[in-house]
Amino acid sequence: MIRGMDVSAHPGTQTRAGAATAFGRPRRTGQAWLGALAAVLAVLLVTALPARAQPSGEPLDVVATTGMLGDAIKAVGGERVSVTTLMGPGVDPHTYRQTRSDIGRLTRADLVVWHGLNLEAQLEKLMHDLARRQRVVALAETALPRADLLADEDYPDRYDPHVWMDPSLWERVVQAARDALIDAEPASRAVFEANARAYQLKLDELDDYSRKVLESVPPKGRVLVTAHDAFRYFGRAYGYEVLGIQGISTESEASLHQVERLVGELAKRQIGAIFVESSVSERNVRALVEGAAARGHTVRVGGELYSDAMGAPDTPEGTYLGMIAHNVSTIACALGGDAGQPPAGVAPCKK
Ligand code: ZN
Repeated sequence: MIRGMDVSAHPGTQTRAGAATAFGRPRRTGQAWLGALAAVLAVLLVTALPARAQPSGEPLDVVATTGMLGDAIKAVGGERVSVTTLMGPGVDPHTYRQTRSDIGRLTRADLVVWHGLNLEAQLEKLMHDLARRQRVVALAETALPRADLLADEDYPDRYDPHVWMDPSLWERVVQAARDALIDAEPASRAVFEANARAYQLKLDELDDYSRKVLESVPPKGRVLVTAHDAFRYFGRAYGYEVLGIQGISTESEASLHQVERLVGELAKRQIGAIFVESSVSERNVRALVEGAAARGHTVRVGGELYSDAMGAPDTPEGTYLGMIAHNVSTIACALGGDAGQPPAGVAPCKK
């Protein structure tokens, strides 16, 4: 159960932080001590959550916030899980607020997984509250060492949450998903471990494909201009410069100044293609195309990328592997590379 405590009450939660502060300063008011006591009890309660010793007939009821997390749980959990994803295709996690029916699903779940790192900014309080009563794990926040994370450019005390854009980081999140499932149902450990190993091979294949086709783009063209700053981990992994119109969160407004600056960059560097995103308004991207045209530089929309949400269910892009393969293939094609045959059933791009 030790692992259960570590992941549920990670240093970012109010529970752990509250207790640590109280113990660090002995002379507190009575009220503060009561708060600390409540926090300690909450930690004990979380550690005492029952795990299933034997797999019962019913699969584990798991609720995931984003599609990418739901997909990871499905890949590792297989038939031992029944997954509900709160955010569907095209839904922006930065601004998503829970519905009444979400709360019902969350409180009934055997396991709740969320991303953390300030991605689901509007759900944080709810998640911390739920974590006092049931098994709740912030998978990306607990899986990744801070040294591997990029800082948010607008808020230096926060991290860029878009880690799924780098398959080598995402594999650690998948491992955290495996560990969370094992904690919830230890008797299915062998199944979860075998599924995670098989999925790892697919992640390796995706990473190999991505590296190969992205390197086929001429070095001068390796610039990715998108609607918001979701692709910085992608850029770091594959050697692409990334320019977003909006900051890391879609809640920050793109300023006219930023659009003007980017138009200047597009014209100066003769960047021929920029990209729209499935979960972000196209308005700013269109403003760039028109701004460049006004300066006599033609830039086209190179295609739609999946940034913060996957594609439609039952399509190749409705899985994590397909989402990334689609992005890589679309980017390589639009920027003059050879996208070859993408993995995960994604159709080759049309030039
Ligand atoms: Zn985002």
